[in-house]
Amino acid sequence: MPGNRARILVLHPVLSVLDYRVPHGMHVEPGSIVVVPIGPRQYAGVVWEPERLPGGEEVGDNRLRNLIAVADAPPIPASIRRLVEWTADYYLAPHASVLRMAVSSSAAFENAPTIVEYRATGEVPPRLTPQRAQALERIGERQGLVRELATIADVSDAVIRGLVKAGAIEPVVIDTDTPFPVPDPNHAPPDLSPEQADAASILRQAIGAAAFQPFLLDGVTGSGKTEVYFEAIAAALAAGKQSLVLLPEIALTEPFLTRFTERFGCQPVAWHSGLRQSQRRRARRAIASGQAMVTVGARSALFLTYPDLGLIVVDEAHETSFKQEADVHYHARDVAVMRARFEQCPVVLATATPAIETRHQVELGRYEELRLPGRYGKAELPEIEAIDLIQEPPERGRWLSPRLVLAIDAALERGEQSLLFLNRRGYAPLTLCRACGHRFQCPNCTAWMVEHRLIRRLTCHHCGHTVPTPEICPECEAEDSLVACGPGVERIADEVAQLFPDARTAIVTSDTLWSPAKAAEFVHRMEHGEIDIVIGTQLVTKGYHFPNLTLVGVVDADLGLDGGDLRASERTFQQIMQVSGRAGRGEKPGTVYIQTHSPDAPVMQALVSGDAESFYAAETRARREADAPPFGRYAAIIVSSEDKGAADEIARLIGRSAPRLPEMLVYGPAPAPLAMLRGRHRFRLLVHAKRAFDVQDVIREWLGSLEWPAKVRVAVDVDPYSFV
Ligand code: ADP
Ligand code: ZN
Repeated sequence: MPGNRARILVLHPVLSVLDYRVPHGMHVEPGSIVVVPIGPRQYAGVVWEPERLPGGEEVGDNRLRNLIAVADAPPIPASIRRLVEWTADYYLAPHASVLRMAVSSSAAFENAPTIVEYRATGEVPPRLTPQRAQALERIGERQGLVRELATIADVSDAVIRGLVKAGAIEPVVIDTDTPFPVPDPNHAPPDLSPEQADAASILRQAIGAAAFQPFLLDGVTGSGKTEVYFEAIAAALAAGKQSLVLLPEIALTEPFLTRFTERFGCQPVAWHSGLRQSQRRRARRAIASGQAMVTVGARSALFLTYPDLGLIVVDEAHETSFKQEADVHYHARDVAVMRARFEQCPVVLATATPAIETRHQVELGRYEELRLPGRYGKAELPEIEAIDLIQEPPERGRWLSPRLVLAIDAALERGEQSLLFLNRRGYAPLTLCRACGHRFQCPNCTAWMVEHRLIRRLTCHHCGHTVPTPEICPECEAEDSLVACGPGVERIADEVAQLFPDARTAIVTSDTLWSPAKAAEFVHRMEHGEIDIVIGTQLVTKGYHFPNLTLVGVVDADLGLDGGDLRASERTFQQIMQVSGRAGRGEKPGTVYIQTHSPDAPVMQALVSGDAESFYAAETRARREADAPPFGRYAAIIVSSEDKGAADEIARLIGRSAPRLPEMLVYGPAPAPLAMLRGRHRFRLLVHAKRAFDVQDVIREWLGSLEWPAKVRVAVDVDPYSFV
């Protein structure tokens, strides 16, 4: 770049690559975080190598505007710049959208080591309006920015500011440079079993080698995968290097943090969507300065700056929630492997049920597999039995078959705990009017409103639209005519209450366990034997270890097979193996019952026989024959707009302009199965290509040659996991 010209990747939704003049006396280098003018406004951006980021050249030297400022923050390192480029190229996302995950736009403007939060003083304001009372009650002991408190209290910012003026809420200065405690690798090391010790020693060597090396840590539930990768973290700590553990957001719970603390003497730095701004800034700064040694985070932790990263672990690596379904459609597992490559460090994918894509990498010799074949200690894997719902149906209007009911009864008798798993929140997935047949549908989405009886609401699980459950049918005005169709966890809990009136039950879903405190309370009650029967969604399939839980009932094992997408069987297998993994983790053996209408389906047979290998072999063969991932590749193009005609027209235009190439097929456009979502009409195209084919390049050129109005959104989803 000649003289004092700099190319900037700007955090602006449209104008993202622009050149500026570096004013006299200002020093910038690639990675510097800067403030730039666009029109009358200021934006944050990052100085980039011009040869790696085309665009911006149009403006002549004499028309360049000056950079406004350079932030007093460490530059974004080259490894992250390469990661941003790779992610943008692979997932066909704007560079600025990816950069936004790595740099907070406030970083350029305010990088002060303190932040002002607010908290209640305990004073009652002279004028206590109902809103003020609600705010003070909901805020309680918590503190945060005005905006955060307003959200907690569900009032406007003005109400909070009024309370500050009235003296009921006061400012507190938070030092965001308070260091985090440093985990001690020698705090409480476990005695490893011989298999665990072998795996741990291979990982320790890899940490020492400080080179890119991907591992699959494949061990049944309860085999001690966590203990083993903790040894790798210990080795990284001993070498003075940082570690990053990625967990699915919902698994980031108290039990994990407690366990980490037991092993290393203090908590790791947690990074997830529930952090307050001050916590976020403190974590970001401590990680970027190298002070924070171990970070445990949801997928977004992947884009933070770690100056000396020695290890990445992706736990529960099979989880599809690592795939982000908004903005940049990236898969955190795959980006984690790329990040390890750019950082030259080992990466460990830990799971009891590896994805076919991951197993394939092992078969190709690209990933090294470390196996833990049995449960740790005396625990045995549970016995799995199928219950054929046609042969042994539940009573009319019920959902639990007699054999499962008997087993629950017996577990209660023995003083042991049971878990009933149904991946459906609420009472019933569909409500209709017995008199006129009216069905309650979301006005914004192609979806039924789900009844939540405990709070007497109907809710759309796609957009959150919620209405009180009506007393009369809005269509025909019949009274008491609404019937619930199908079960959700609340309905199963009702049935359990009728069958076992004395049993103590708990419903575990994101509605009931919405905070770490709630989760901790649930764990406490389970561990102290205050719960006999848990009825839960996939939230209970993750990470919990309850030695007295010996029975698992899968209420509807067929549920996941409905969608008919390419991973349906694989996902059903993984989910049921994971939930089965909750049974019999202590000295007492466990039993799992899976209720199904198709006990002969290969996935059910594999679960019952425990023959995972032949199931995977058959699934892999089917994928190979269909050229499905990992043997072929898909990319989805989703066209959406509030204006149905416009979305339809652009979807057709894209379809018509599809390049005709022998390596690639284009299906559609067709209305998406979820034809309307949050008020936007949706159409889909699906691109199917050979593995080795550079489908991204073709799509980039294809869509790049077309134009559409601003009200139409075109999203590309490379390696899609969702087909709705
Ligand atoms: P996984 O991650 O494979 O599901 P965990 O690491 O959670 O397995 O181990 C299951 C249980 O066994 C945990 O309670 C863990 O503390 C215990 N455990 C595993 N390995 C050891 C060990 N070497 N020493 C003591 N306890 C262990
Ligand atoms: Zn909706």
